[in-house]
Amino acid sequence: MSIDLIANLAYILAAALFIFGLKMLGSPATAKRGNLLSSTAMLIAVVSGLISADVVSYEIIVGGMLVGGVVGALAARLVAMTSMPEMVALFNGSGGASSLLVGWATLYLGTSDTTTFTAATIVLAILIGGLTFTGSLIAYGKLSERINSAAVVFPMQRFLNAAILLGIVTCAVMFCLEPSATSPYLYALLGLALVLGVMAVIPIGGADMPVVISLLNSYSGIAACAAGFAVGNNILIVAGALVGASGIILTNIMCKAMNRSLTNVLFSGFGAVKSAKAVEGEVKPVSVEDAYYILEAASNVCFVPGYGMAVAQAQHVVKELGKILEANGCEVSYAIHPVAGRMPGHMNVLLAEADVPYEQLVEMDDINPRIENVDVAIVIGANDVVNPSAREDSDSPIYGMPIINVDQARTVFVLKRSMASGFSGVDNPLFFGENTRMLFGDAKESISGVIGEFG
Ligand code: NDP
Repeated sequence: MSIDLIANLAYILAAALFIFGLKMLGSPATAKRGNLLSSTAMLIAVVSGLISADVVSYEIIVGGMLVGGVVGALAARLVAMTSMPEMVALFNGSGGASSLLVGWATLYLGTSDTTTFTAATIVLAILIGGLTFTGSLIAYGKLSERINSAAVVFPMQRFLNAAILLGIVTCAVMFCLEPSATSPYLYALLGLALVLGVMAVIPIGGADMPVVISLLNSYSGIAACAAGFAVGNNILIVAGALVGASGIILTNIMCKAMNRSLTNVLFSGFGAVKSAKAVEGEVKPVSVEDAYYILEAASNVCFVPGYGMAVAQAQHVVKELGKILEANGCEVSYAIHPVAGRMPGHMNVLLAEADVPYEQLVEMDDINPRIENVDVAIVIGANDVVNPSAREDSDSPIYGMPIINVDQARTVFVLKRSMASGFSGVDNPLFFGENTRMLFGDAKESISGVIGEFG
């Protein structure tokens, strides 16, 4: 059996394991095994790639693995859990940059005649890889709040974007007609792709960011798929296509969760022209002791976690309070909004880490019809995903986004440190609601205080 045949058989095995792994990631009960299966598939794919005949230099590969391994290990150890979403954005960007480089490097493989098909795949790898790279850097900046997370729109923006697109199409065609590593069109295309990434992400901001994150994730897969075609590597094509397709599905789920169409998210500029009604009223703070008395008497409590739970790392105490309430004869559930936190599945990951039973997790569409039966909804560092102006104020930038209707529960506790707005920068009338009690402070400390009262 030739090395190439062995490598291709191993690729088929890896592709099958990827697909089973992805399927298992669909349920919290099998997700860990799914992750392990997919990692094994990646190991098989990498080893098979390394034994195939086309490897140019093992020294450079080993050097790259060492540098990448050290950077990855340090990042995994040093990056705070709250910075994970930014980290994911950087990973997407790195994926895009790698595909760009692989596509570009194909021109140096030594084969004298680059076919039009290969040239087209190189164009796609450079274009999509390049825009994923710079787009992800902007997303990183917005998520880490190093740059303003609001949408940036300016006059003639669409005209400028159309000009960039026209430039890209021209350069792509000219390059494909005469593909070479020294073609000026290649470099112009590269530059325009990098600019397009910036231009594509700056008009998206606020509550629309989840869509960008999942879309960039999908782009990084499509870029890898194009790079796979460019270098003729089957597993790169399959793995890239899987990431691309699953990213598009996730993007669709995110759009549905925001009740927006993808075109609307990409081109309308979140909140750039709307401004919500000013919110005013009386705020009713509650002490830890009073919160305890109300919870002690409650028979149905629903926790609604948001980004603040991640900041406070409150998931373990939340679960502890849940257990105490259950022991007290109370029905306990955890309602999860699809875009709560700063990355898809953020709340699920945190609650799974704290071993909250899966059967107690409920989706927004399941809790809303029965929220009126909830005695106390405890909002832990969530804000945008429980903002009633999304339902009631047609001038609000988040108008139309489905929310968890905690304001319709009998009593609402909102645990946060101040009256500050959430990621979208929109004020929240929930805090002034008749049935709302604000428990100010760090969520972990507040919940620990309540646990202390239960003694
Ligand atoms: P928000 O960002 O709307 O609100 C988080 C709240 O947590 C803040 O108002 C903050 O208030 C509070 N908070 C922060 N730290 C603490 C702490 N230590 N203790 C208690 N409270 C704290 O979060 P949501 O989860 O409600 O909404 C997510 C938002 O992020 C949406 O707009 C979504 O579109 C966006 N987004 C989501 C992504 C995803 O994939 N899920 C990706 C990118 C953006 P205070 O400072 O007063 O404490």
